[in-house]
Amino acid sequence: MKDPLAQTRFVVQEHHARQRHYDFRLEMAGVLKSWAVPKGPSMNAAEKRLAVMVEDHPIAYLDFEGIIPAGQSGAGPVVVWDQGTYELLEGANPVRALEAGKMVIALYGGELKGSFTLVQMKGRGAKHWLLIKKKDEYSRTDWTIQQRLTKEKRRNLREKVPPCESH
Ligand code: MN
Repeated sequence: MKDPLAQTRFVVQEHHARQRHYDFRLEMAGVLKSWAVPKGPSMNAAEKRLAVMVEDHPIAYLDFEGIIPAGQSGAGPVVVWDQGTYELLEGANPVRALEAGKMVIALYGGELKGSFTLVQMKGRGAKHWLLIKKKDEYSRTDWTIQQRLTKEKRRNLREKVPPCESH
């Protein structure tokens, strides 16, 4: 039987802070486990993307979009780049998989689909992980990330203080 936690939500936020990056967040045990991915996720199985674990975020951050005000950590626009659900493909408990340093997951998003591995890098400190697309019917060799923050989208964003301290 599937663990009831096995199919839960994920979000990727495009964050135009001092350095643009993508925040990859998995709902787990009542929080959003979070990684900052400098280059963003990839659908190309040949590309390993560095994912630096950052602080847990509240579930309320799942659909956060807005401009984090100047002077706050992570000041700048945040837009949802992709969202959907995920499922653990190996093991039964996402928290335990995370603690073991390897999660094999399926993502059911608009952009991110199919299986991925999130694996902790050895010898680089606990915060450094790699997010890697697995070869499957969704993987693409010619994939490039499409920026979500268009001029029009930016015009419609409002300054908003996020429900957490760091981003
Ligand atoms: Mn961020």
